[in-house]
Amino acid sequence: MGKRLSEEENYQLRKKHSDEQRKRIMLSVDTFPYLMLDVADPRRAKPECCAMDGKALRYDHPYWTDHYPPCTKTCLCGVIQYSEKMLLKHGIPIVDGGN
Ligand SMILES: [Zn+2]
Repeated sequence: MGKRLSEEENYQLRKKHSDEQRKRIMLSVDTFPYLMLDVADPRRAKPECCAMDGKALRYDHPYWTDHYPPCTKTCLCGVIQYSEKMLLKHGIPIVDGGN
């Protein structure tokens, strides 16, 4: 059993992982230009996040400027990167990201 992280430490850790993931995502946006929001626990997520759960937007959509996870200290949202082909295959809707 490790030391239990405080909410703030937990948030900073998730932020660090998220920043690293985002850097990796940016390396492959030519092939995989879509990001789908994945809400891990709706009970801890904001209603706005739940509304976007399972929907995809382009990586450069302004939405991500303010909503790239971790969005709050309690939200456990994550992002999954997809190509357009994969979205179609999985039936994942693209919202307002076509332009
Ligand atoms: Zn969230």
